[in-house]
Amino acid sequence: MAQLTESVARVIEEFGKLPGIGRKSAERLAYYILRVNKVEALALADAIRDVRENVRYCDQCFNLAEGELCEICRDPKRDRTLLCVVEQPRDLMALEQSGTYQGLYHVLLGRIAPLENVGPDQLTLDSLYDRVRQGEIREIIMATNPTVEGDGTALHISNMLEELDVEVTRLARGITTGSILEYTNKEILADAIMGRQKF
Ligand code: ZN
Repeated sequence: MAQLTESVARVIEEFGKLPGIGRKSAERLAYYILRVNKVEALALADAIRDVRENVRYCDQCFNLAEGELCEICRDPKRDRTLLCVVEQPRDLMALEQSGTYQGLYHVLLGRIAPLENVGPDQLTLDSLYDRVRQGEIREIIMATNPTVEGDGTALHISNMLEELDVEVTRLARGITTGSILEYTNKEILADAIMGRQKF
């Protein structure tokens, strides 16, 4: 039986590790890479290398950044008294695309999920507490996903911040329970921000 060359076997194995890519798809991608011109194939390799070498988490809000601070934290036009708490950078992107929010963010990099052994200490809560304690922030908008775990996380944070002098609000429940922020359309997200309620 014919053997794959070592390099072909390796690229199939690597593609196969990607989420949602099975063995057949991995093979198809590998043969595609061999078929397109070399410049195009290497552009993919370079893009992967660059994104891993240049992109990091913002020192302040944990959004994706190229440098110490992300674009939003560096923007002098953003309202520094408003802080919106989201689970992941992709949730932040969804809210940004709604175009209504002008404050800063704090990305938790997850949510409290006891069944998956994710506790509060695995999130960026210490930094959040420190940011709020500094006193410039007047309002925290909880924009965790409307799921059991997202709600639990929001409640935990609201309790954590209780001793600090800050108002905690949450997105209006125009968003269907269980729907995920990143898949919610921008008009609904804009309404949810405008109609936010006291936590
Ligand atoms: Zn930032």
